[in-house]
Amino acid sequence: MEGLMQDWPLRVTTIIDHAARAHPEQEIVTRTVEGPIHRYTYKDLHSRSKKAAKALLELGVKKGDRIATLAWNTYRHMETWYGIMGIGAICHTLNPRLFTDQLIYIINHAEDDYIITDLTFISILEEIADDIACVKGFIVLTDLEHMPETSLNNVMCYEELIEAQNDEFEWLEFDENTACGLCYTSGTTGNPKGVLYSHRSNVIHAIASNSADGMGLKATDTVLPVVPMFHANAWGLVFSAPSVGAKIVMPGMKLDGESIYELLENEKVTSTAAVPTVWLMLLDYMEQTDLKLSTLENVVIGGAACPEIIIEKFEKNYGVKVIHAWGMTEMSPLGTLNLAKSGMDEWSYERQMKHKLKQGRAVYTVEMKIADDDGNELPCDGETSGHLMVRGPAVARVYFKNEGGDILDKDGWFDTDDVATLDPQGFMQITDRSKDVIKSGGEWISSIELENIAMSHWAVAEAAVIGVSHPKWTERPLLIVVPKDGKTLTKDDVLNFMTDKIAKWCLPDDVVFVDELPHTATGKVQKLLLREQFKDYQLPTVQAAE
Ligand code: AMP
Repeated sequence: MEGLMQDWPLRVTTIIDHAARAHPEQEIVTRTVEGPIHRYTYKDLHSRSKKAAKALLELGVKKGDRIATLAWNTYRHMETWYGIMGIGAICHTLNPRLFTDQLIYIINHAEDDYIITDLTFISILEEIADDIACVKGFIVLTDLEHMPETSLNNVMCYEELIEAQNDEFEWLEFDENTACGLCYTSGTTGNPKGVLYSHRSNVIHAIASNSADGMGLKATDTVLPVVPMFHANAWGLVFSAPSVGAKIVMPGMKLDGESIYELLENEKVTSTAAVPTVWLMLLDYMEQTDLKLSTLENVVIGGAACPEIIIEKFEKNYGVKVIHAWGMTEMSPLGTLNLAKSGMDEWSYERQMKHKLKQGRAVYTVEMKIADDDGNELPCDGETSGHLMVRGPAVARVYFKNEGGDILDKDGWFDTDDVATLDPQGFMQITDRSKDVIKSGGEWISSIELENIAMSHWAVAEAAVIGVSHPKWTERPLLIVVPKDGKTLTKDDVLNFMTDKIAKWCLPDDVVFVDELPHTATGKVQKLLLREQFKDYQLPTVQAAE
């Protein structure tokens, strides 16, 4: 027997319909690419998104067409998302930090019809224009006054397109399982693969990730999504914040410590989210200038393991709660958030800190388990580590155009390629990417744990650990360190500092110092490149073993 409730398709446009109805006066503030701060309301966003939808229809965009955006977090970028999705087209977010050959590959693979771009990225597009023949035209997110001189063909001004429309428009109707977003994984090996989100999966993700024990935003919050909209949907904030009517502050292209600090204070931000490197820049800036934070309540940190030093500084020096989170493009992206359970607040500081380094517990709609190489489930004892497997309504079933073939096992589990432990209370801790784990003798050494300890040294700016081949142990850890500006460090300084913080056999066999580490387009250290660079590295312990 079927239930007798209404059929109300979970389309993402229902979110801004709701925001415009229930929170019409709530503000969206943007640091524009042109410079000035721009302010308007959910009512304005709603109206202009409809105009954007009509403009796209007039250009001939149809359901299922892919429209790319190459843009920073701004109100205009947000309008285009809703405009594209509201007519059943698919918004393909391009990451400007990708190498140009990767950009060319994914634009062609997605068969993007139009590219909507910020002024800042015109030169990238000019460079690749001859190699992206599928693209019929470019829409520049600016007004007539700022339109650039460019060699690109069929270039349109966004404000001009919008002005030519009124907002009398009903979103198109289609099934909630219709595709609405496309985001390619950063692809550490092989070509990037497309994750194709549906209206339904994005709505479910918005609700689930924003539960009180998730990001927990509410109408009285002001949220600053520093995490870019091109990095896994800004972790869903473009959907979850309007669903509760929170004020949004968009940082545009300026993500340095000073600019972020200015927005946090001027706009009275209560909640924000980004990868650890952003927070290191902000903390550095606040330390140098001796500034404090007056309204920020919590900061969500994910995308890479959050080092202890960041948690400690935010909580002790600035009174800001850190929520460590984990997820991936294939999961829309949020999987876990580390929020305490009853009684944990009474634990000793040391115990709480150790616990906060965990990536957290699954939000409702995410199922999670760890398994051995044969897919057998492993115990949740907080010690045993295994392949982290997930399933749920906002987890990818297959990549776009079936790249990579079947990605689920026979029971529907997706292997995240992360290695993790799960404790009896459901808290997950990533020990490594499968490819990064260091296999020393019969044991696995966690590169993340070593990096975390090294990063807590006062003179270390960044650290990465890779496995280097060893005749006796197969692999041993090599620690690569970027010292803080102007600081000098020796190998012994670092190793002595680490000695009493980890089992002796896990200590790195050697330490090398470099000026900078290579990063991927989403801010992760490129271990593949480091392994390549150090593949012939002779560890001092090798001679000893021979
Ligand atoms: P992406 O799809 O680019 O967001 O990358 C997802 C991957 O980033 C995950 O599979 C993890 O390897 C890594 N990652 C994300 N969040 C964390 C975290 N909090 N700690 C450790 N690794 C993380």
